[in-house]
Amino acid sequence: MLGQMQNWPLLVSKFLEHAEINHPRREIVSMLPEGGQFRYTYADHAVRARKCAQALERLGIGFSDRVATLAWNTHRHMELWFGAAGMGAVCHTVNPRLFPEQLVYIMNHAEDRILCLDVTFVPLIEKLASELKTIEHYVIMVGRDHMPETSLPNVLSYEDLIDAESGDYRWPTFDENTACGLCYTSGTTGNPKGVLYSHRSNFLHTLLALQGDTLSITSKSVILPVVPMFHANAWGIPYAAAGAGAKLVFNGPHHDPETLHKLIMEEGITVTAAVPTVWMGMLKYLEATGKDMGKLKTVTIGGSAVPRVMIDTFQRNYGVRVNHAWGMTETSPLGSLGSENGAVENLSEKEKLDIQCKQGRSVLGVEMTIMDDDGNVLPRDGKSSGHLMVRGPWVIDTYYKADKNATDADGWFDTGDVACIDEYGYMQITDRAKDVIKSGGEWISSIDLENAAVAHPKVAEAAVIGVYHPKWDERPLMVIVTEKGESVSTEEMHAFLEDKVAKWWLPDDVVTVEEIPHTATGKISKKSLRDQFTDYKLPTY
Ligand code: ADP
Repeated sequence: MLGQMQNWPLLVSKFLEHAEINHPRREIVSMLPEGGQFRYTYADHAVRARKCAQALERLGIGFSDRVATLAWNTHRHMELWFGAAGMGAVCHTVNPRLFPEQLVYIMNHAEDRILCLDVTFVPLIEKLASELKTIEHYVIMVGRDHMPETSLPNVLSYEDLIDAESGDYRWPTFDENTACGLCYTSGTTGNPKGVLYSHRSNFLHTLLALQGDTLSITSKSVILPVVPMFHANAWGIPYAAAGAGAKLVFNGPHHDPETLHKLIMEEGITVTAAVPTVWMGMLKYLEATGKDMGKLKTVTIGGSAVPRVMIDTFQRNYGVRVNHAWGMTETSPLGSLGSENGAVENLSEKEKLDIQCKQGRSVLGVEMTIMDDDGNVLPRDGKSSGHLMVRGPWVIDTYYKADKNATDADGWFDTGDVACIDEYGYMQITDRAKDVIKSGGEWISSIDLENAAVAHPKVAEAAVIGVYHPKWDERPLMVIVTEKGESVSTEEMHAFLEDKVAKWWLPDDVVTVEEIPHTATGKISKKSLRDQFTDYKLPTY
């Protein structure tokens, strides 16, 4: 017997309708790529998102057609998210930090029909346009006054398109399993792979994001999602903000600590989210200027492991709670989050900090397990580490256009991460499977070593890779960037790490470089580092 409740399809346009009706005067503030700042309300936003849908229809976009965006976090980008997805098309968020050949590959692979781009990216796309086989129109996301001289064909101004429409449009209803958004992984090995979100997966993910234990978003929140809208749904924040009626502040093309801090203070930000590198810069800025964090209460940090010293400094010096989160493009992205749990409430501050350094408990709706190489489930004892497997309604089933699915027979998706899970359910990533250092048959966690090293006051950034060793197969090489004018010897690093990691984990060498390479999603690029140090001979060789 089936239940007899109303069977609405779960469509993302519902979030915007909700915000328009219930939070019409709540603000959305946006820094603009062409300069300046813009401010309006959810009521205005909803009208413009409908005009955006009308404009796309007028350009010939139909159901399930792909509309690409190459854009910073702005109010216009959010209009396109809602406009394209709301009308039943697919919003393909393109990451501008991918290599040019990857950009060409993914836009051709997605068969995007329109590319909406910020004025910042016009020179980049001019160079690639002749290779973009399926793009019919280039929509530059500015008004006519700021339209650049360009060699791009079929160019339109976004503001002109919006101005020409009435906004008299009703969001259509269709199957909730319809594709909604498309985002490619950064493709550290091989070509980037497309993850095709559905309305249903995004809707359920948003309800999860709005739980008290998740991103700490309520209707009173003022949110600055520094995490880009072109990467993994900006962790679902724009949808969640509309769903809650929270004030949203977009930093546009600005990622420097000074601008972010100014927004935090001037707009009264209470919640923000970004990868660790952004906060590394911010903490330095705060230390140098003696400034505080105003009304900021919570920062969600993920994408890479959050160093202990970062969590401690945010909480102790600035009264800002850190939520350590883990996720992937393939998990929409929220998979686990380190909110406090009744069971650990009475632990000491040090023990609580130990737990916060872990990547958190799986969120409701995501199942997690760890398995050995043969697919046996490992115990949740906080020690046994194995392949992290996940499944759930916002976890990938099949990559876009792939001929077989990405999961095993039981629906588990292998994340490529190595992790352990403790008795309270807190998961800890020890490495990417391909980055683990295999020394004499034992595993050394490069992440643990890196986190321990960045607590050294003279170290700005640290990366650890395995390098060939004739006796042990691999031994750790630590590559560091020091604070300006400082230097750190191998002996000094050993002395610092001695009481923080097992003795046999101590790196065989510490090398200082000017810069550590990063991927398009802001992670340390271990692949580039391994290439750079491919013939490196350790002193212990
Ligand atoms: P990419 O396109 O670069 O793969 P993703 O965001 O999908 O971008 O990357 C997901 C990966 O990032 C995870 O599999 C994991 O290795 C890493 N990651 C994400 N969050 C954390 C975290 N909190 N700690 C450690 N690693 C993390």
